[in-house]
Amino acid sequence: MLRSLEAAFPDAHCELDFGTPLDLAVAVILSAQCTDKRVNEVTPALFARYRTAADYAGADRAELEELIRPTGFFRNKATALMGLGAALVERFDGELPGRLKDLVTLPGVGRKTANVILGEAFGVPGITVDTHFGRLVRRWGWTELEDPVKVEHAVGELIPRKDWTMLSHRVIFHGRRVCHARKPACGACVLAKDCPSFGEGPTGFVEAAKLVRGPETEHLLALVADGGAAR
Ligand code: SF4
Repeated sequence: MLRSLEAAFPDAHCELDFGTPLDLAVAVILSAQCTDKRVNEVTPALFARYRTAADYAGADRAELEELIRPTGFFRNKATALMGLGAALVERFDGELPGRLKDLVTLPGVGRKTANVILGEAFGVPGITVDTHFGRLVRRWGWTELEDPVKVEHAVGELIPRKDWTMLSHRVIFHGRRVCHARKPACGACVLAKDCPSFGEGPTGFVEAAKLVRGPETEHLLALVADGGAAR
C-alpha cells in the first residue's frame, strides 16, 4: 500500500502556502474548519502585514479579524494568533520552538498542528492525524482506534519513522482526492486490491472515476487503468 501511495502521490506535500515557520503555524491555525485553498487566499495579505511574533502580539484586533474573516471562526482564530504571538515573544524570544513539548504549550497549537510544523518547518518526522488520516487508516484496518493521539502511536509502530511525514501527506492527499468520507471512489482507487474496505463506494471504474478530485486525477486514473485496481 505504501508503494501504491508513493506511485499515486510522489510529490504530496503540505497544501498550505507559507514562508517562515511562523507563517506555517498561523496557516495551520487558520485551517481549522476551513479549506487550505481558502486559507491560501487570505495568507498573502496577512503575512505581508504581520511578519513577526511581535506583530501578532501587538495586532489591532479589528484589523486582524477582518483579514482572516473568510476562514471562519475569525474571532477565536484572532485570539489564538495574538496569544501565539505573545507567548512566542514572552517565552521563546519570538521564535517558533522546534520541539513538540514546547509547541503544544502555545495558544492554538494542538498536537496535530505541532506535528505539521515539526515536519514541514523543522524536518522532524511526524504523523499528522487529521480527519482524513484517521478515516483512511481505519478503513485499511491499520487500527480500530478513534483517538487521534492513539492513532498516531499505533501507525507509528507500523511505519518507519523516516517515512512518517511523507506518509501523512500521501494519506491526506488520498483522502481528499479519492477515498472520500461519504462516497469513496473504490473502483478508481490504486489501493483497491489491498483495501479491506473496497466496496464502501462504487466499484465500477466509470462511476468511481467521476468521484476522483484534484490536479492529479488524470495520473491517478491512468495508474488504475494500468492495472492498479480491481474492477
Ligand atoms: S478501495 Fe475504497 S475504501 Fe479502500 S482506499 Fe480505495 S477508495 Fe478508500
